[in-house]
Amino acid sequence: MIGAIAGDIIGSVYEHRPIKTKDFPLFHPRCRFTDDTVLTVAVADAILGGTGFAESFRRIGRRHPRAGYGGTFIEWLFSSDAGPYNSWGNGSAMRVSPVGFAFSTEEEVLDRAKASAEVTHNHPEGVKGAQATALAVFLAGTGSPKDTIRSRIADLFGYDMDRSLDDIRPSYSFDVSCQGSVPEAIIAFLESNSYEDAVRNAVSLGGDSDTLACIAGGIAEAFYGGVPDTIREKVEELLTPDLLTVTERFSNRYPRAGRPGGNHSPRPVVSASEGQDYRACGPEGGTE
Ligand SMILES: [Mg+2]
Repeated sequence: MIGAIAGDIIGSVYEHRPIKTKDFPLFHPRCRFTDDTVLTVAVADAILGGTGFAESFRRIGRRHPRAGYGGTFIEWLFSSDAGPYNSWGNGSAMRVSPVGFAFSTEEEVLDRAKASAEVTHNHPEGVKGAQATALAVFLAGTGSPKDTIRSRIADLFGYDMDRSLDDIRPSYSFDVSCQGSVPEAIIAFLESNSYEDAVRNAVSLGGDSDTLACIAGGIAEAFYGGVPDTIREKVEELLTPDLLTVTERFSNRYPRAGRPGGNHSPRPVVSASEGQDYRACGPEGGTE
């Protein structure tokens, strides 16, 4: 799950300032954790403590009220009894990676992903986005090759997984729907050659960058067997003690999420054509 958190942090500065290049400083001076991280930790905490997902989202989410939640989620968060609100937003997918690390069969992973989604995101696309993300993490962490992950996700969820990042990038823009961001984030992982490369791929799409990188980062962490130490150290520096404690407990409890090191492949040399900056003219400013 630290791979998902690192993706959120790395992508945080580009959420409202999209870039269409992989060439950017990995940890921008203004990068920070956002709602993706807080709610990922809440899913992990619910799994560790055997508590309900809604209770955990409210308990941990309320401690970090300015993490950048969507408006409807904020209302739900601070209500004591609000029910699900039929969302198809990618909030269900950005928070679900711990499910893919913690459970040991596909059936359990799909069932728990659904449960984590439907306390808020009970629209079929909201549930599907969470299940697809969690299943990708599970398959990636249990030795499935990329071709298998691609075909399973396409077959089970009906996403078009035959596109390349170069197909997607030119016309892609900010999209908070599961159906318009989960397949793209998974493709960002499928085209990667290392953890860092997956996160750079996700940000380079120029969309909901923290969430795309969070989703791709969780899957890449599972596939490549961890995140590089330099990235882990930076995440540890930027997390608050309460979030870090849960993250460490989860990694210790579930070994697939706690592998040290990971793939240390250096970032590939950017070729002349890849190095072109497709920078879109997004509004300046960070997350709220
Ligand atoms: Mg966010």
